[in-house]
Amino acid sequence: MITIIEPFRIKAVEPILMTTRAEREEFIKEANYNLFKLDSEKVIIDFLTDSGTSSMSARQWGSIMQGDESYAGSPSYYRFKNAVANLMPFKHIIPTHQGRAAEKILFSVIGGKGKFIPNNTHFDTTRANIEYTGAVGVDLVIEEGKNPALEHPFKGNINLERLEAFINEKGVENIPVVMLTVTNNSGGGQPVAMENIRATKEICKKYNIPLFIDACRFAENAYFIKTREQGYANVTIENIVKEMFSYADGCTMSAKKDALVNIGGWLALNSDVWAQQARNLLILTEGFPTYGGLAGRDLEAIATGLEEVVSEDYLHYRIVSTQYLGNHLLKAGIPIVRPTGGHAIYIDARAMLPHIKPLQYPGQSLAIEMYLHAGIRACEIGTVMFGLQPDGTEKEAAMDLVRLAIPRRVYTQSHIDYVIEALTEINANKNKLKGVKITWQPEQLRHFTANFDFID
Ligand SMILES: *Cc1c(COP(=O)(O)O)cnc(C)c1O
Repeated sequence: MITIIEPFRIKAVEPILMTTRAEREEFIKEANYNLFKLDSEKVIIDFLTDSGTSSMSARQWGSIMQGDESYAGSPSYYRFKNAVANLMPFKHIIPTHQGRAAEKILFSVIGGKGKFIPNNTHFDTTRANIEYTGAVGVDLVIEEGKNPALEHPFKGNINLERLEAFINEKGVENIPVVMLTVTNNSGGGQPVAMENIRATKEICKKYNIPLFIDACRFAENAYFIKTREQGYANVTIENIVKEMFSYADGCTMSAKKDALVNIGGWLALNSDVWAQQARNLLILTEGFPTYGGLAGRDLEAIATGLEEVVSEDYLHYRIVSTQYLGNHLLKAGIPIVRPTGGHAIYIDARAMLPHIKPLQYPGQSLAIEMYLHAGIRACEIGTVMFGLQPDGTEKEAAMDLVRLAIPRRVYTQSHIDYVIEALTEINANKNKLKGVKITWQPEQLRHFTANFDFID
């Protein structure tokens, strides 16, 4: 049997408002052709992000009722702490309201002017929190990780030679930590091999620099190790996760990804000195160390989510259903970033729409048409997002992609088949798609609020 069935039944449902193309033409026009400004109720399939959009299980909803809301020393904190420590056995586990709060606290402690923090590829909030302290974030992903059409099993790997050369160039004293993001979100959700984590740790050990993991999609990364790396086929996901973190000295985590909840995060680390400083900052901005920025019920839901996310049946369904979407788009002749990553499919809009120049935003044009044609909301990751330069001029981005991020346990195969059909139909008429122009934009982060219109 080849059909991948969802390894769950549905107990509670949310209606999807079915709209017509004529209605969607009105809605998107009112939103000035910016999908971020569209009300979510007007979307049929929402692929804007996989962050905080997971369905919780019946067990997690049960955990919510068990939450103990005591200000200090709540049993829910201990349940959370034990669930995290079971997979990521760090000495100090500090809850935060989401991933960027953990980053803010960590880099406030270890960042600052003159410091450099290497990573395979920094996520945008990670980079922003590093730079806010005056430090510099540096991306050292392997060359293969930058070529969208190239097949490689671990395109998230860090370039070990460049890492060591970088440490020697900048000086050990200026590098407070080395980071690895698993999976590499900004690089297409591509995994990092165990061998690469181990070798990164060897370099860190040689220079006495701690290794921190940006752990958001740790379980998806572990599944890729199990299925793609020699020697792991018979190791349980839980043991692969434990080995991954055995090489690290700490981690930051957004529970909105692989903890299967809608809000939450943590900072975990071994250093007593850093943990002390982090807890002081935590009290200032997040809350008392046994709840961080969260309610007791959130801590309970995370604890249960961590038990569920390492299930092999769940991860098999998760990764294979993402691959299913990617493979069918490829079969339909639609160019995507390869191989398919864990949490999203990235369409190469520049390659798909060669008649639309990068400065006429092929990614935005495709994203608008996906909404008009089928009510699908996706996210442009290209010249709209990265093209505006600090001096106000514009430059084409390295790539013009459209990301289809897939919420966890939310959509069924028939939803995905609908998306495949819609994109196949759009591809057949792609020459009719028009370029877009920006009619208004803010000075920064323009993709969230800019207004667009079609070029005639
Ligand atoms: C989402 C994400 C973050 C930030 O987490 P938030 O919970 O959104 O603040 C950091 N790193 C990576 C790799 C992420 O995907």
